[in-house]
Amino acid sequence: MGPTARIDLAALRHNLQKARDFVPGSRVYAVIKSNAYGHGMLRVAPYLAGADALAVARVEEAVKLRQAGVDLPLLVLEGFYDAAELEAAAHYQLEVAVHQQEQIDILRQRRLTHPIVCWLKVDSGMHRLGFQPAAVEGAWQALQSDPSVAAGVRLMTHLSSADDLNDPTTSAQLATFRPFVERFRTPCSIANSAGIIGWPAAKSDWIRPGIMLYGASPMLGQTGEQIGLKPVMSLQSRLIAINHFAKGSPIGYSGNWVCPEDMPVGVVAAGYGDGYPRHAPSGTPVLLNGSRVPLIGRVSMDMLTVDLRSQPAARLGDPVTLWGEGLPAEVVAHQAGTIAYELFCGVTQRVLFEEINGSR
Ligand SMILES: *Cc1c(COP(=O)(O)O)cnc(C)c1O
Repeated sequence: MGPTARIDLAALRHNLQKARDFVPGSRVYAVIKSNAYGHGMLRVAPYLAGADALAVARVEEAVKLRQAGVDLPLLVLEGFYDAAELEAAAHYQLEVAVHQQEQIDILRQRRLTHPIVCWLKVDSGMHRLGFQPAAVEGAWQALQSDPSVAAGVRLMTHLSSADDLNDPTTSAQLATFRPFVERFRTPCSIANSAGIIGWPAAKSDWIRPGIMLYGASPMLGQTGEQIGLKPVMSLQSRLIAINHFAKGSPIGYSGNWVCPEDMPVGVVAAGYGDGYPRHAPSGTPVLLNGSRVPLIGRVSMDMLTVDLRSQPAARLGDPVTLWGEGLPAEVVAHQAGTIAYELFCGVTQRVLFEEINGSR
């Protein structure tokens, strides 16, 4: 007995439509990197046919999609790293981000038979990937004049702080990026989920929603539910033991949680070996029979323990939701000092996946 990650494919399609509703008229790259944020890249891709295109981080992710028969445009957000990756990208007709001079040099050293679609990435302040503003003009000219590059180089940038509506960084990034769009008059792409949800000024020809497709909000202090998104993943398990302990009994590893009175304690078949965060502290909510009960004691590899004082009718085998429908992953993530992205990506191999609402 262990957890199941139930994947609601109707919720995925609903969230894609929500992303469109936020920015009417923009075209959509549905971001499915890192195995679709742990939801299963090949599982979800067919249900994202309503997107205009898909985006992944790495060439090998895109190649897997092509080999599985996905024929939507595919953008590789980190672009190609060496000549072999460039050849693969060209062979599979991938679109690539070009973010540093080394890539332009690699392009120059060969003549691709099918020109490749390039997105010139501008570092507008994220300071991770991208050409510095002063180098953009040169990179643009080099790409425009390269016969291996498809006509109409496009422009992209990435926002570092759009999850915080009070952070002035986003406006500064937009002010840095916009002049290039005006000067080169070419399609551009700016917004991730946080840009889509929180920053109308980040509207661009192409949007790149990731986390919101899976039903979670990237915005500080706000859940996806609150903006009409639906959770796609529900991590579910069951109560596998109910024990009664006397006041003063320590619970679990290191016994750092002690029963304040005689009480029932439930054991749930889910632990960090399944991807439940070990750092979730006592008090983190767990959904039992639709009601929230607090996690108590340390999370172990295969199990965690919950306080059943509020649920005297709980029985062995009762259903438990660790996050998802009825308990936003953002809430659990916040308690554990992380983000829903990491919870989703961290679900491990041994967890069973089950699809619902999958009729297309
Ligand atoms: C991951 C990523 C996205 C999607 O981000 P979310 O916060 O999940 O919406 C968009 N653009 C780039 C460049 C990314 O790396």
